[in-house]
Amino acid sequence: MRSSHPRALAAATKRHLGDAALGRLPIMLAASAFVILVCASLVGVEAWLTWRARVVQLSEARIASNNVAEAVAQHAYDTIKEADTVLVGLVERVEHDGAGTPAELERLHQLLALRVRALPQLHGLFVYGADGAWITNSEPSMLSGQNNADREYFIYHRSHTGDAPHIGPPIRSKSTHEWIVTVSRRINRADGGFGGVALATIKMAYFKKFQERYNIGQAGAIFLATDQGTLLIRRPYDEAMLGRDISALPLFARYLSVSSAGTATIKSRLDGVTRINSYRRLEEYPLVVSAALSEAETLADWRTDAWRNGIMVAVIVLGIGALGFRLILQIQQRVEAENELRKARGSLETLNATLEQLAMQDGLTGLANRRKFDTAITEEFSRATRNASALALIMIDVDCFKQYNDIYGHAAGDACLRAIGRVVGDSKRRPGDMAARYGGEELAVLLPGTDVAGALVVAEKIRQAIYALELVHSGNPNGVVTVSAGVEAFEPVGGEQRPVDLIEAADKLLYQAKRSGRNRVGARAAVAA
Ligand code: GH3
Ligand code: MG
Ligand code: MG
Repeated sequence: MRSSHPRALAAATKRHLGDAALGRLPIMLAASAFVILVCASLVGVEAWLTWRARVVQLSEARIASNNVAEAVAQHAYDTIKEADTVLVGLVERVEHDGAGTPAELERLHQLLALRVRALPQLHGLFVYGADGAWITNSEPSMLSGQNNADREYFIYHRSHTGDAPHIGPPIRSKSTHEWIVTVSRRINRADGGFGGVALATIKMAYFKKFQERYNIGQAGAIFLATDQGTLLIRRPYDEAMLGRDISALPLFARYLSVSSAGTATIKSRLDGVTRINSYRRLEEYPLVVSAALSEAETLADWRTDAWRNGIMVAVIVLGIGALGFRLILQIQQRVEAENELRKARGSLETLNATLEQLAMQDGLTGLANRRKFDTAITEEFSRATRNASALALIMIDVDCFKQYNDIYGHAAGDACLRAIGRVVGDSKRRPGDMAARYGGEELAVLLPGTDVAGALVVAEKIRQAIYALELVHSGNPNGVVTVSAGVEAFEPVGGEQRPVDLIEAADKLLYQAKRSGRNRVGARAAVAA
């Protein structure tokens, strides 16, 4: 009972600490994984939202540029259509009614002046003869003596028999010197020959004013060009750009060549700005329109938001990371403290076990001590009573030991006792057998489940073995160290016998052996015989 209790406690402690050791790794891992997961989720969600916001922003810019392109195209179409409608009427009239007489010319002049006043985009209307001479126009006072045979539209119609309207490059008006766009139609003679040109000039300012109505940012751009790539007008407005050939630009070369409308993100060769371009061809007229928004401007707000949110998330992640790190550090410290505790408990247990062992051991012989013997004989006595089994006891006393000490000294006496202790200790045959130092130079051997005859054999072997050691002892009549022993055994009957009865009985037989001359084993007469 005394030994089982501390062992059970130690086992329980070990189990508890074992659980802690087992739980340690997952807790550290879980804490680290949790912190990493939270941080990664935050960064991931933020990155995803930022990316989504960029996609939405760009998509909105595409829609916006598309709307502007649509509006500019529609406006260009309407503007030119109105002018062209006037031209169609004019050509029809000149071709059929002629404009030869002064009266007819005056009527035509009045009509043209009326039309120009009615249509705000019109700069002027002109009719030229087959030689380029001015026949009539919309100016308040008729100018004469001018010749426009050198103009691009005149040369074009003279060499092209088709009746489609022609839109020429931007030019400066000879009459008012302002920038104009020309829309012209060929006049045929009755025989189909070249009879002249009807021309409508449209104020560049009219397009410019319309294009300026739209908010396309600082770096946005709008242009109107002929489908051959001649720039008619561009916002931002730059006179030097008017009439320039832009057919080599990617918008023409790569996009308009394959589709008549669309949106493309292109880095401009003119100013190096990357823009979201929405482009389209006009259906009836050989014109193309493009409206473009700067990608950098489109994404400016998004970029600011992304930076701000990114910094916020970085701060939060750093905070969580720092807290998590501290948490993990604390867990680690706890785990280390637990390890130290476990080690300390282990040492303590070992020490306790050693102390327990020492407390039960005889210092000189290494056999069980008297305390252990007393406990053991009580336990074995109870067990033998319960099991109705035999319990044998051998009591051994060294012969003439007092004299041994006197002759050889106390230290030699101790050495002699150690040698005898070894022999007695080696006599144990079963796990339950116990050899103990009973006191002084008296030793005892407890043999559970052994009857007196069996014990007698053991005792006799011990006696002979000690004799065989031949430890010289001049004070002993045998010349060597000898021992005497008393052997007793019985099956204890509960209540009637006590352990002390067994000891006393064996002791009595030991002294009987002494009296009988020593170096012998004393037993009950019946057995001894
Ligand atoms: P007997 O044959 O009758 O037993 O004679 P004896 O001299 O052995 O008599 P007794 O048993 O009375 O003597 C015990 C002696 O053993 C007394 C003591 O000096 C000695 N002794 C007891 N314990 C120790 C010990 O631990 N070391 C040493 N060296 N001697 C011891
Ligand atoms: Mg003695
Ligand atoms: Mg003695």
